[in-house]
Amino acid sequence: MNFHEYQAKQLFADYGIPVPPGRVARTPEEAVDAAKSIGGDAWMVKAQIHAGGRGKAGGVKYSKSLDEVRDYAKGMLGTKMSTYQSAGVALPVDCVLVTQATDIAHELYLSLLVDRATKSVTFIASAEGGVEIEKVAAENPDAIKTLHVNFVQGLQPYQCRDLGFALGLNARQVGQLSKLMLGLFRLFNEKDLSLVELNPLAILTDGNLAVLDGKVNSDDNAGFRHADLTAMRDIRQEDETEVAASQHDLNYVTMDGNIGCMVNGAGLAMATMDVISLEGGSPANFLDVGGGATKERVTEAFKLILSSDKVRAIFVNIFGGIVRCDMIAEGIIAAVKEVDVKVPVIVRLEGTNVEAGKELLRNSGLAITAADDINDGAKKAVAAAA
Ligand code: GDP
Ligand code: MG
Repeated sequence: MNFHEYQAKQLFADYGIPVPPGRVARTPEEAVDAAKSIGGDAWMVKAQIHAGGRGKAGGVKYSKSLDEVRDYAKGMLGTKMSTYQSAGVALPVDCVLVTQATDIAHELYLSLLVDRATKSVTFIASAEGGVEIEKVAAENPDAIKTLHVNFVQGLQPYQCRDLGFALGLNARQVGQLSKLMLGLFRLFNEKDLSLVELNPLAILTDGNLAVLDGKVNSDDNAGFRHADLTAMRDIRQEDETEVAASQHDLNYVTMDGNIGCMVNGAGLAMATMDVISLEGGSPANFLDVGGGATKERVTEAFKLILSSDKVRAIFVNIFGGIVRCDMIAEGIIAAVKEVDVKVPVIVRLEGTNVEAGKELLRNSGLAITAADDINDGAKKAVAAAA
């Protein structure tokens, strides 16, 4: 799950990590009130969307007066914003964060994630923050420092000091960084996060460190034990189809191709997408209907797939291990009738009761093409979509 910047900063503050005072606002007047209550003589007005790169898209504005705060908030609220990080999607700006504007001397980068290669929680840091870290990594890899945390020992203060000096901080700043990193590490573990990114982590002109932007992702599998985090979910920032899918316990991810896929099992679903690509096609989605696929879920799955107007063919690829092929066939027939499917449907069934399943499809009177195996099915789907 993704969080807004203002939610991330609330979590940081709870763990003693320094963030400039700020308040969230849903109307221009609320933004002015927020600025007044925070105090100071300059403010940042920041669009709250689930994507970075807002600065370049006009979603981060420095305001020198309350009138400017109002105008910037007015310009952002109610609009849809796309950035180079929003994958071509325009996200609704329902609220803005108003913070005190700080005076920045230098911008650093610091993130914390699960590194699968070393099987450890890992800090990534750079003295070249503020900008796109991918660019720094590509052009100047030496500027990126990594710190793997030993699972048993946990984060050690000396490791933080090493990193701080490597980033060129002075002794006082190194002390602040250590405290910040220890807090961040505790937050990461206690809330089952999968990513925290501070960009920029700023050195202010008074020499103090402050977190000016924060991105946080949490592990959905641990959602059941973090009611405080799940309460922060903003489904307006999420893909509509994926939200509908999660309400039916379907694993669905929108892709940009034109062949809808309905598969049981995540591994088979991935293999299906691979084989479609191998045959020169392009999947419109990843969809795992799960081991316990029922008629109702198959129908929901068809509705989800067809909610995209890009879909030109549907490839159903089911291996009946736990589920029976005849039951799946019944589900497909019911769904095709109920949803009024107009695109070609190619079905490959294999496993338990496969003959009974194929028989049902043959006798259904519907235009469903049977496939012999996964390759044959992919080939037919690609041809049908073309
Ligand atoms: P992003 O573009 O979505 O990553 O949004 P950020 O919150 O990182 O803001 C973009 C840039 O705005 C930062 O890299 C800073 O250069 C600048 N910025 C953010 N907060 C402040 C602030 O308090 N004072 C000043 N002077 N600049 C800021
Ligand atoms: Mg940023």
